[in-house]
Amino acid sequence: MEQIHNFIGGEIVSSKSGRFAPVFNPATGEQSAQVVLSSADETKKAIEIANKAFPKWSKLSPLKRSRILFKFKALLEENMDELARLISQEHGKVFSDAVGELTRGLEVVEFACGIPHLQKGEHSANVATGVDSHSLMQPLGVCVGITPFNFPAMVPMWMFPVAIATGNTFVLKPSEKDPSLALALAKLLKEAGLPDGVFNVVQGDKESVDVLLTAPEVQAVSFVGSTPIAEYIYTTASAHGKRCQALGGAKNHCILMPDADMGQAANAIMGAAFGAAGERCMALSVVLAVGDETADTLIANLKGQIAKMSVGPGITEGKENDMGPVISAQHKAKICDYITSGEKQGATLLVDGRDFKVKGFENGYFVGPTLFDNVTPEMDIYKEEIFGPVLAVVRVPDFETGLKLINQHEYGNGTAIFTRDGETAREFQENVQAGMVGINIPIPVPMAFHSFGGWKRSIFGPLNVHGNDGVRFYTRMKTVTSRWPASVRLEHHESSFTMPTME
Ligand code: NAD
Repeated sequence: MEQIHNFIGGEIVSSKSGRFAPVFNPATGEQSAQVVLSSADETKKAIEIANKAFPKWSKLSPLKRSRILFKFKALLEENMDELARLISQEHGKVFSDAVGELTRGLEVVEFACGIPHLQKGEHSANVATGVDSHSLMQPLGVCVGITPFNFPAMVPMWMFPVAIATGNTFVLKPSEKDPSLALALAKLLKEAGLPDGVFNVVQGDKESVDVLLTAPEVQAVSFVGSTPIAEYIYTTASAHGKRCQALGGAKNHCILMPDADMGQAANAIMGAAFGAAGERCMALSVVLAVGDETADTLIANLKGQIAKMSVGPGITEGKENDMGPVISAQHKAKICDYITSGEKQGATLLVDGRDFKVKGFENGYFVGPTLFDNVTPEMDIYKEEIFGPVLAVVRVPDFETGLKLINQHEYGNGTAIFTRDGETAREFQENVQAGMVGINIPIPVPMAFHSFGGWKRSIFGPLNVHGNDGVRFYTRMKTVTSRWPASVRLEHHESSFTMPTME
C-alpha cells in the first residue's frame, strides 16, 4: 500500500508514529493509499525547521521572493493536467472542475508575485518640522495552514503564496482525506527554487493540529473547514497568543425574484447547487423563490435539467460527467440521512439521489442530484450544512421575507439574488448579512486581488484570506518616526514631560 508522508526541510520525511488514515478513490470506493498521522514530536520538528528558515528568508528582498513565485506559477501551469488528475483521484470532482480549482489557486500565486508593491508600507514626509514617518510591513515568523478536503489545492493556495511572499515560513496540515496535493505543491515549490524549510507539510490529525495551535514559535494560524472546528481553532490559537483567521461552514441562499431571467437563473442554480457534488463552501443549497409561479417555473426547469445530468467518475475517456462522487462512504451516508430527515419533516422530495448507482462503479460514493420543494426554516435540511448535492426550494411571498431568512441564518458565507431590477439588487447588497454577494452571479467567489470570507458563524477572526486582508494578516505593521541631526539641533534641549505633539 502506497504511503503518503511529510515534507519537511525540503525533503520527504517518513513518519515513525505508526498511525495512518486510509485514502480512498471515491469513484471506485477502493483504498488507494494510506497517509501518516504525524506525532506531536514530528510536528514540533517541522515547526522548528520552519522557524530556523525564517531569519534568512525574511531578509531576502521581496523581489527575489516574488521571482521564485513566478517560477512556481509557470510550473503549476506546466503540471496542471497531472495535478488536476491527482485532485480528481483523491477528491472525486470532475477533471475540468479540478482544473478550475487549480486556476483559482494559481491566481493567488499571481497576486502574490506582486508582493514588492503590496508590502511597500506608507510614508509621510514632514509630519513635524524635520520629522518623517514611515511604516514597515514585516513578516511574522512561522505561519500555519490547516485545510479542508474539498479544495486540496486551492485552499492551501489561498494561504501560503501570500504568507511566503511576505517573508514568512509555513507549515501546512492538509486534510487527511486527500493529502497528496500538498506534497505535489511542495515539490514544485522546491523546483521553483524555494529554500528548504520555508514550506513544510505535516500530515496528521488533531494530535498535530493541537501542537500547531499552541507551539510558541507559531505566530499565525489560517484555517478553513467546518464551523465547530473553526471555532475550536480560533479560540485555542487566540488563547495561545496567535493571530488567527478561521473560515467555517455555510448554507448559501439565493433569492429568485419573479422578474429574473428564469432560464439564466436556473442554469446558474444548477451549476452552483450540484457542481463538485455540492461540496463547495460557496455551493448554493437554498433557493428562496418569491411567489408560487416563480417556484413552479424554476422547479420545472430544474427537474428537466437534473434528468439530463450525467453523474459518474471524475476522469473519463470520453465525454466528461457533470458531477462526481462525494468524498467518503461516511459522508454519503450522512447526506442520505439528511434526505430521509427532509422527507420525514414534511418537505416534498421531488428528485431523490439516495440509492444512486453508476454502472461499473457500484462501490463508488455517488449521491444523485436531489431536489426538495416546500422546505421550511424549522427543518434540519434548511438549518444545517449538508455539503452534498441537495437543493432546497423555500417558497416565500416577497423579497423582504427572503432577506429576513438569510439574515436570520447562523451562516453568512455567500449569497445571491437573481433579478432584473436594480433597486431590488441594491437593497439586497446593502442589507444582506453575508460576506460575498452575487447579483445574477451564483457563486460570487472574489478574485485573488480581493479578499474571501463570510460573516457570522462562517468566519472567526477579523481578516479574510488573500487580497489586501491576506497581506495584512501575514504582516505586522511597524511605524517609524525619525528625526535627523540637523533638525535635532533646532530643538530646545530641555526635557519635556507632556504628550509629544507634532508641530
Ligand atoms: P473539517 O472541519 O472536518 O476539517 C478541516 C481540517 O481540520 C482538516 O485538516 C482536519 O484534519 C482538521 N480537523 C478535523 N477535526 C479536527 C479536530 N477535532 N481537531 C483539530 N483538527 C481537526 O472540514 P472538512 O470536512 O475537511 O471540509 C468541509 C467543511 O469545510 C465544510 O463545512 C465547508 O463549508 C468548509 N469550507 C469552508 C470554506 C470557507 O471558505 N468558508 C471553504 C472550504 C470548505
